[in-house]
Amino acid sequence: METCFDGPDLGQRCRSGPKPRGRDLLITGIRQMATPVPGDGPLYGRDLSAIDLVSDAALLIRDGAIVFAGPEDDVLRATPDADGLESLDAGGRVAIPGLVDPHTHLVFEGLRTAEFEQRIQGRDYLEVLASGGGILSTVDKTRKAPPEKLYQNALGYARRMAAAGTTTVEVKSGYGLDTANEVKILEVVRRLGHEIDLEFVPTFMGAHAVPREFAGETERYVEYLLAEMLPSVAQRRLAEFCDVFCEKGVFTPDQSRRILSEALALGLRPKLHADELSSTGGAELAAELGAVSCDHLVSVSERGMDLLAGNRTVGVLLPGTSLFLGKTRPAPAREMISRGVPVSLATDFNPGTSPLLSMQLVMSLACSYLRMSPAEALSAATINAAYAVARGSSVGALAPGRRADIVITNAEDYREIAYFVGSNLAWATLKEGVVIAREGTPMF
Ligand SMILES: [Zn+2]
Repeated sequence: METCFDGPDLGQRCRSGPKPRGRDLLITGIRQMATPVPGDGPLYGRDLSAIDLVSDAALLIRDGAIVFAGPEDDVLRATPDADGLESLDAGGRVAIPGLVDPHTHLVFEGLRTAEFEQRIQGRDYLEVLASGGGILSTVDKTRKAPPEKLYQNALGYARRMAAAGTTTVEVKSGYGLDTANEVKILEVVRRLGHEIDLEFVPTFMGAHAVPREFAGETERYVEYLLAEMLPSVAQRRLAEFCDVFCEKGVFTPDQSRRILSEALALGLRPKLHADELSSTGGAELAAELGAVSCDHLVSVSERGMDLLAGNRTVGVLLPGTSLFLGKTRPAPAREMISRGVPVSLATDFNPGTSPLLSMQLVMSLACSYLRMSPAEALSAATINAAYAVARGSSVGALAPGRRADIVITNAEDYREIAYFVGSNLAWATLKEGVVIAREGTPMF
């Protein structure tokens, strides 16, 4: 994947890549095609649930892009050479856009199963840290891991994501926390993008935590990040976005502003982990900086919601994280939707707080836990998730001109995807018209 740094929609500009793509394919036998209706930006308010449902549909793909999407009769009429095309019979199943996961920490070494068990037993976070757990334990192991090991780990997780219908994945660094190791992680992300048929969107997150060697000296670490890490990443063109964990006890709004402003000057667009554990003004800062997305938002203020809405910053909600941590208070999704925030969903896949790989499960949680409708969850996991990674005009909907990223699901009605909690309904996952997973088995 070529990494591009300007333009409103990075996906379209970064289309060229070394992977063989772009085939012609006719998909028939779609009982129901369910897709959000693209507008001129991320969907909000009522548009979030105004999805397009077409019965007995077909999709015509040429050169990896959708040419026709609509009633099968219309598509066949408009395709005189249909008999000569390679075809795929969906067998009366439901087709939706490929799922976009706009927030993951995919590249790391070391699961935290012991910490998981300790937390269940009631140990508090400080006890977990004292016994060698917590984010810095992942940093220790990731620093020691050779790139090949990190690549193989991430490849295994990416295979499971593709099998569950995900076609585009954002990946943050942030377990290196020094120049060499952050670069090492982002080079693994670049290699994944070159070698496998999923699209990976790289984000630099050196401000994920303060490393041990800077313990108690957050300000000094921020200076180091600004002077060395960020310029090194930008110069190597390893990331499209820069993210900061803006939270009490981690990075302040002022430190976050300095990091993200400098990143923007170097061509990395801002994202923010904000208002997760407490309301620190993170959403307000995201709007001020024109961030592409603002993520977590469990404790977002009313003013923060209004500013995100006014700025059309995508609010990325991560209900799997709340669930895994046993929290009873999820993000106020209904209020955000009614105030006009363009809401999206993501797994937050990471070894400490969300070992969750399936966007289908996230859609279920969004319905049951955030009280979003199945239609809202579909839009949030496709078109709005695409906008959260600046690919809103190229993926996230089944419409002419968009890339043929498609999931054909073992369902008769799209609502079953969220309804069958924890089941993988993906029958086939297609990336630019190429089948990358079939019946739960990845093809790479
Ligand atoms: Zn995260």
